[in-house]
Amino acid sequence: MTMRGPGGRGGKYLTEEEKKQAPKVTKELLFRIFSYLKPYWKQMTLVLCAIILSSTFSIYPSILTGKIIDEGLIGRDLNKLILFIVLSLAVTLSANLIGVLESYLNTWIAQHITLDMRNQMYEHLQAMSVRFFTTNNQGDIITRMTSDIDGVKQIITNTFSSILSNSITLMVALIAMYRKNWILATLGIIIVPLFTLPTRKAGKTRWSLTNEAQACNDEINGILNETLSVSGQLLVKLFTMEWHELRKYRKANEKMIRLNIRESMAGRWFRVVMSTFSSIGPMLLYLVGGILMMKYDADITVGDITVLVSLLSRMYGPVNSLLNIQVDWIRSMAMFTRIFGYFDMPIEIKNAEDAITPDKAEGNIAFHHVYFQYDKERMILKDVDFTLKSGHSIAIVGPSGSGKSTMINLIPRLYDVTEGSVTFDDIDVRKLDLTFLRKNVGVVSQDTYLFNGTIRENLMYANPFAKKEEMMEACKKANIHDFIMKQEHGYDTQVGNRGLKLSGGEKQRISIARVLLKNPSVMIFDEATASLDSISEKAIQDAIDPLITSRTSILIAHRLSTILAADEILVVKDGTIVERGTHKELVSKGGVYTELYETQFKLPDDVKDA
Ligand code: ATP
Repeated sequence: MTMRGPGGRGGKYLTEEEKKQAPKVTKELLFRIFSYLKPYWKQMTLVLCAIILSSTFSIYPSILTGKIIDEGLIGRDLNKLILFIVLSLAVTLSANLIGVLESYLNTWIAQHITLDMRNQMYEHLQAMSVRFFTTNNQGDIITRMTSDIDGVKQIITNTFSSILSNSITLMVALIAMYRKNWILATLGIIIVPLFTLPTRKAGKTRWSLTNEAQACNDEINGILNETLSVSGQLLVKLFTMEWHELRKYRKANEKMIRLNIRESMAGRWFRVVMSTFSSIGPMLLYLVGGILMMKYDADITVGDITVLVSLLSRMYGPVNSLLNIQVDWIRSMAMFTRIFGYFDMPIEIKNAEDAITPDKAEGNIAFHHVYFQYDKERMILKDVDFTLKSGHSIAIVGPSGSGKSTMINLIPRLYDVTEGSVTFDDIDVRKLDLTFLRKNVGVVSQDTYLFNGTIRENLMYANPFAKKEEMMEACKKANIHDFIMKQEHGYDTQVGNRGLKLSGGEKQRISIARVLLKNPSVMIFDEATASLDSISEKAIQDAIDPLITSRTSILIAHRLSTILAADEILVVKDGTIVERGTHKELVSKGGVYTELYETQFKLPDDVKDA
């Protein structure tokens, strides 16, 4: 059985970092790992039996060698000779066949356990709040999902079964040796570790030399990258550092050569140590066995000595593997600890235990003295207080970074308030059933996200049960139906990189149609700040304006026509509502709104002309 470290990084030995970060193996951790194996106890029992059988069987031919020599060859009995040879071959074949069954079962169990873990992890990640995804690196999350969980598969197929099969092989070999002759068996027990330890030491030296050579190689590449680029060369030439760079390069190369020579010699010595030690063991057994037989007339035959020598050589592999197990074990435990660490991360935003699911939603939204902070350092929203009655619309305006998006994120509970409350139909959103709340609040965000699939699939994501007519109706309202129909495959046009490339404006209109299909009681639009060409802008405007007047809506507005269509305007600055009222009232005030109006609100040319 080959031994591979689950992480694979440091090979057979632990790096300093791994040693430092070795996790504490507690009873709880082991029980927790065991809980994943428990559902498969029947298959595990079969694996255990298969391992016991195949390990025992694999030792048996060594034992039969004794009989072949003593009873077949020395006893000059051809029948027995053939019988033992056939038996030996049959046993070897059986051991191998059982081995196949064992690896099938092992892989089956490992695949199922990883499947369970992967699903559990994905479910858990889906429940995590937006805060988790903004604070964690996406690469790390994906590594947990893929390589760490894949590592578990390796632990089960390699580490666990290797510990078992190697221990059993060793035990069977030892029992067989003691049954033959206790003196030679004891000698074997002393010999094996004496000879495996120096080989390990030699291997470790070689491994650290390889690592050092790797680092040196990186250094050389770094020098080349830096100095052979255009800007690097400019710097070198202008500061006349050619000589200095050459010296640095030469020094690094000389170090590399020294390391390479040492590494290759260590490899040579390693082989010398290996082959000498592995041949000293059997020779010692022959010598002591011979002395016992000839000088002390011990009850031992030539065949027995051959069996002992053969068993001894069968012990090196398992002993070596078991000595390496510690490394795999620590890595495996570190991996489980990392995975469990993810499982244990608390779910920040979840359904209240006694969550309320009202019969119907009207869509009244209110902020009651809301304070909010993303992190402890800074209060982003301060005393935000407003009411949006069902059927009305509110436009939120303010300078970039004033907290507009943060405000609307609190409505579908992407984040929870720090102080105060947000209510939906007079119920605190934290007390409402999360599914009910999110079904009734539709958001068209600034950066529209469409999945890689057809336009139809993207639309139906909002409502898988929507009828074709409903889908088209939503697209007509969002002013995108005609565009879709013009495409070769209509609603079945691919959105992603394989098909059509949609412009920002088209994507936004599709996402408006998607929200319309969901038919929520409150609509939230985060109007894109990125400038669109005037035709797209007009198309979006034509889609949004009628919606504002017909639905309960909150808009983060950047365009004058959107602002004008709203019933009330809230002007936000530094997380506080500083002004509120209608366009006319606010313009006459000469405050923040007037300033924004004069500098920022854009009116598409054709709307201006109209
Ligand atoms: P814009 O008009 O540019 O979209 P905005 O008014 O919507 O801006 P917000 O996105 O609500 O502003 O951001 C308000 C403040 O909160 C900003 O200072 C921003 O840096 C900060 N902020 C936003 N998101 C986070 C986050 N996930 N973690 C920490 N701080 C954040």
